[in-house]
Amino acid sequence: MAGCVFCAIAEGKIPSQKVLETPTALAFLDINPISDGHTLIIPKAHYERLDACPPAVLADVMAVACRIAPAVKAAVQADAYNLLCNNGSAAGQVVEHVHFHFIPRKSGDGVFNRWPAFQYPAGKAQQIADAIRRQLG
Ligand code: AMP
Repeated sequence: MAGCVFCAIAEGKIPSQKVLETPTALAFLDINPISDGHTLIIPKAHYERLDACPPAVLADVMAVACRIAPAVKAAVQADAYNLLCNNGSAAGQVVEHVHFHFIPRKSGDGVFNRWPAFQYPAGKAQQIADAIRRQLG
């Protein structure tokens, strides 16, 4: 799509550090990493959000994630990793071309040091689950 930075990367119109490419998916280093080896995995075709991307394409993207996982971990001596997909600006999505952040982690690195878990008040989990099931039909 015109003006999309990730489409431009997929088409080779702007430079990137590509680490793995298949006919449908691409993995390249994030230009502003939050840890060494922070990699983005994208479908080459343009879809803004996860739920707009065909499941078969997502399967290829996930296959690339699984292939790079041990390689990136070994390359940067990481202990673990997070796989993150921001969808919508309220969730932190800036580039509107679906992408997964592969974030290598080391014990105690403090990359994500806030996980604001809470407990539902009585009845609220049931109410929310019912609402979701109604939406699903
Ligand atoms: P998000 O906030 O989930 O939309 O993340 C977009 C990510 O794309 C950010 O982590 C940026 O650092 C990264 N990014 C933006 N432009 C480029 C680029 N030209 N090459 C590599 N990564 C990029």
